[in-house]
Amino acid sequence: MRKKIVAGNWKMNLDFQQGISLFSEIVNMAKDEVLGQQQVVVCSPFIHLHGIAQLAKGVSRVAIGAQNIYFEEKGAYTGEISAVQVKSAGAEYVILGHSERRAYFNESDDMLSKKVDAALKHGLIPVFCIGETREEREADRYFDVIGGQLEQGVFHLSNEAFSNVVLAYEPVWAIGTGLTASPEQAQEVHAFIRDKAAEQYNQDTADQLTILYGGSCNPQNAPELFAQPDIDGGLIGGASLKSRDFIDIAKVFN
Ligand code: 13P
Repeated sequence: MRKKIVAGNWKMNLDFQQGISLFSEIVNMAKDEVLGQQQVVVCSPFIHLHGIAQLAKGVSRVAIGAQNIYFEEKGAYTGEISAVQVKSAGAEYVILGHSERRAYFNESDDMLSKKVDAALKHGLIPVFCIGETREEREADRYFDVIGGQLEQGVFHLSNEAFSNVVLAYEPVWAIGTGLTASPEQAQEVHAFIRDKAAEQYNQDTADQLTILYGGSCNPQNAPELFAQPDIDGGLIGGASLKSRDFIDIAKVFN
């Protein structure tokens, strides 16, 4: 059985104390209520990583992640942060290729493929995000767009390296808009992604690949989305800032 993951992306929210409080609530609820094999991951701003890692110690069902890294290991890159640094603070995962970083910070496919390499080299699991804009969906170009993002961002990896990657399908038109992809729309793309992975690598690798859905996912729509055969969990934005909602989404896999 492939790994099921419910990951929260806090984005640029919460001051230090608010993040610590929210994470404490999440850990306490997860200990009592998350009962299956699913992994709960919280991707916080950098300032919280060390603090929440202390709270996550010994809680096997909760892991933490960063929301970005630079691809160089160290040096004169003012304001940047490396895989080694976030790992040393306790991160096990890192979100890469999020549409907000592609759009607002001009992260190219080429840069992202280097970030994926840097993450894997230092033992971080990349949660690599792909997805089409509304215009691309309306023009029926979404398979081309997503196929291209996969080819340029992660398909340079060896089969062994690729087995450590988690993918997240996040249609840009569904992020923060309250417009969720229907379970059928999401399943269609997840199946396409899995087929592409089988073509590039092999069926076994594709069968083991965890593919998350992201975009206005909440406790109401998660059960139907996660019931789809190729949807292995979610990457949750807004709803991950409320401990009750976030844990309720994780509990869909109980
Ligand atoms: P929302 O759940 O707020 O739509 O955000 C999704 C997302 O971008 C997660 O990375």
